[in-house]
Amino acid sequence: MTNLVDLTDVPVVDNHCHAIEALQPVGLAEWRALFTESPDPGMRAKDVVETAFYRRLTRSLEEFFGVSGEDGVLRARASHSTAELVAKLFDDASIAGVVIDTGYPAPEKAMDATEFALASGAEYAALIRLEVEFQRLIVAHGRYDDLVASVRELVSDVRGTGFAGFKSIAAYRTGLAIERWSDEDAHAAYAQARVEVDSTGSVRLGYKPLLDTLLHLAFEAAAVQELPVQFHVGYGDPDVDLRRASPLELRSILEDSAYRSMPVVLLHGCWPYVREGAYLASVYGNAYLDLSFAIPFLSIGEMTSMTRAALAVAPFTKLMYSSDGSRVPELNWIAAKDGRKVIGSVLGELVSDGDLDAGQAHRAGEQVLRDNAVKLYGFRSNGVS
Ligand SMILES: [Zn+2]
Repeated sequence: MTNLVDLTDVPVVDNHCHAIEALQPVGLAEWRALFTESPDPGMRAKDVVETAFYRRLTRSLEEFFGVSGEDGVLRARASHSTAELVAKLFDDASIAGVVIDTGYPAPEKAMDATEFALASGAEYAALIRLEVEFQRLIVAHGRYDDLVASVRELVSDVRGTGFAGFKSIAAYRTGLAIERWSDEDAHAAYAQARVEVDSTGSVRLGYKPLLDTLLHLAFEAAAVQELPVQFHVGYGDPDVDLRRASPLELRSILEDSAYRSMPVVLLHGCWPYVREGAYLASVYGNAYLDLSFAIPFLSIGEMTSMTRAALAVAPFTKLMYSSDGSRVPELNWIAAKDGRKVIGSVLGELVSDGDLDAGQAHRAGEQVLRDNAVKLYGFRSNGVS
């Protein structure tokens, strides 16, 4: 019988999440659809309810609000303003800091950052989602050299412009095997992207030589500024080709000696490639593995397996807690509550197996939940209350 290591006293830094929407969903269909990555209408309306995650979320919220059923939960949350809901849930889950990917949801839908910071009480760091900015700049610039100059400017003084690092969704576009291309290839890909701009007024950056080339500009700047770069890896929206989203595809970036000073954060535990991600965090000095406890939408048992695989091999300095919560604060909330328990139970196993003593286990819990992120993203305080 293993004893759980009690981490309830440790405030978390949520090292990967997204903005909360100013207008919260009210209808049942809209609510349910938040908890699946499936685009299939039947899955979004019905099957999502029949998942371990959704059942657990509903039961946890019934308990929290003192109500019963999905309707009860929806009525209870609708009786609060968005700011009240954020305040209540973030306080209950003791969330001391957040690192926000500003690229999703769209900024015009997001709760105002100052209002969010005030309501949540959490220290706030923001990341630039590279592909979204690249797409905007491709639309804005009709000459390749002007595009390159504007990307260089975007990435030249990231902290000076109020950001703590980058987020890349290359896995959602052309895959994680990011290569170096000739000028000729990059120009040709830019010309194709501009054809799309001319016919539709916008562009989806699916032109690999162009995206890879712009990413290298950002990575060079990140290495100089020692800025963390988060990569979406593994599980995600339906536009991810999971075959190209394994963290092993990042080999050329991790092997590049020019990028040694650029911390690479592999998101979502790379699930289902969690062992691959844990391995990379155990061999590359600049690779970190993010353990995300709301998205992917998993059972407690599978989150325990993910955490066990990570803590089994990676140094405790290389693992970081997150929710990947997005749009509604319940995701940040349930992840913090479940994440503490899951990490505590895996650390308890390490103690009963004789890997760690109790003090070392509690310290590892603090590192993963809070301290590694505080250091990596440059938070002012360490969140200890
Ligand atoms: Zn995310």
